[in-house]
Amino acid sequence: MLPPRLLFLPIFHTTVLAKVYILHLRWHMKEYNRLYEDTYQHKGLRKKLVDTLRTKGITDELVLAAINNIPRHYFLEPAFDKIAYEDRAFPIGEGQTISQPYTVAYQTELLRVKKNDKVLEIGTGSVFQATVLAEMGARVFTIERQKKLYDLQQSRYVFKSKYPSIKFFYGDGFEGLKMYQPFDKVIITAAAPFIPPKLIEQLKPGGLMVLPLDDDSGTQRMLRLTKREDGGYDEEAFEQFSFVPMLQGKNK
Ligand code: SAH
Repeated sequence: MLPPRLLFLPIFHTTVLAKVYILHLRWHMKEYNRLYEDTYQHKGLRKKLVDTLRTKGITDELVLAAINNIPRHYFLEPAFDKIAYEDRAFPIGEGQTISQPYTVAYQTELLRVKKNDKVLEIGTGSVFQATVLAEMGARVFTIERQKKLYDLQQSRYVFKSKYPSIKFFYGDGFEGLKMYQPFDKVIITAAAPFIPPKLIEQLKPGGLMVLPLDDDSGTQRMLRLTKREDGGYDEEAFEQFSFVPMLQGKNK
């Protein structure tokens, strides 16, 4: 047994260390809660956003419900927490953006998503669009060409267990996913320079593909293609949008 005089120092040290450790843990919990807390304020802003989308012409109640149910601020850097519910696109790193909610709603509405639809998405980005599709009951196969974004989503996507129906792939969207074809729906969330032939091939007859196609204006025309039984497709044209470019090949 050590004399009390000598016991004091180790006990003192241990207590101080334990306190520092607890403070450290608390700080982490606070950071975590700040990031992943869906407050009444967030919910209120989200409801307003849904009203805005309605005024802008989105009518599909299932799309609006999905956007109302998903905390968009979880998909953005904490600095954007308060403005996550403005109808705007935001930077997500690697020069990429999370699409504007109106654009997400617009493309999703055109896609006529049904429960259990097998959907191929090109351009995972923030995973927000994929989450909207999964919330509507789709099985989502999403491809990202930027390794850093793909890795980030592997480690940070908060809804992994909530939406196990989203499968992530690192690859070139122009190639699609031959292994998993055919798809009921295909959605491209980057500006396509042309209609990727392999994506048409991987679509079921009767299936739909929604994509923003570059035209001479420097912006893109939203198109919906319906695949015919003979392998060709019918085309419908909608509004103009502005997306980041769909690029060839993968990026390490
Ligand atoms: N759906 C995303 C939108 C992200 S922006 C979201 O909800 O946040 C478009 C994304 O497409 C970018 O992350 C970009 O890196 C990716 N992209 C561009 N060209 C691609 C390609 N050929 N294959 C796969 N992803 C591509």
